[in-house]
Amino acid sequence: MKFLKLVENDPRALTPKILSAIVEEQTKDQRPPDDWVHCSEVGTCPMKIALRLSGIKGEFSQGSYLNFFIGKLIHSGYQRVLVGKVLESAEATLRLPSLKLVGHDDGHGQTFVAEFKTMSKDARRIGNRPQRHHVLQITAYLKLLEKNQGNLIYIDKSNGQLEEYILEFDDADWAEIVKRIALARKFEEELKNPWPDKALQNEAMASECLFYWESWECGYCQFARSCPIKDSILLLWKERRK
Ligand code: SF4
Repeated sequence: MKFLKLVENDPRALTPKILSAIVEEQTKDQRPPDDWVHCSEVGTCPMKIALRLSGIKGEFSQGSYLNFFIGKLIHSGYQRVLVGKVLESAEATLRLPSLKLVGHDDGHGQTFVAEFKTMSKDARRIGNRPQRHHVLQITAYLKLLEKNQGNLIYIDKSNGQLEEYILEFDDADWAEIVKRIALARKFEEELKNPWPDKALQNEAMASECLFYWESWECGYCQFARSCPIKDSILLLWKERRK
């Protein structure tokens, strides 16, 4: 058989059409802007939440749309097979109006909440622990669903391996989530009311954000180009590591 690796812009290539169909589908599915904080956000940089709450549009690459799409397919496949056998139900939407916190879990049973994460082995763990933002996300679901046990299941896209962690609800983690949401709301207000010295304000916000932020986040952030504190927070982080 003869074969040929297609170069970009070859009119016979299906890849650009596949990608643009996926981007169109993913964009159509994007949730409308709202002023609720989502459980999937509670462990991420509070400024990121504030920028979304302020109506700033995130910029996504084609690659990230494709990743979301593959992740969604895997999730829905697992849910389709598991509901009624392992999970009682999937995708409950719950709200905690006092904090304007909303969540949409992957699935749950009488005593547990299940969360699936599709990612490579290297990306998912720090040492032998689940990532902090995943722990906080599950904690938020546990609070909303009033359950004590979270089952965090990592699905390795490259080889199909599963790795599972059990997490118990922890009051200290919940207290951190409450602080993170309060900080995101504070930043949202700050963005509406700029100080005369904007640089000073950005430094002050960066310093407050630092404790709730991880250094890898800016590299993957859809708000990186609009973020007022990105440079300051990276600088502060570098200074503190010296
Ligand atoms: S660019 Fe960095 S600091 Fe700014 S919102 Fe994104 S993650 Fe947060």
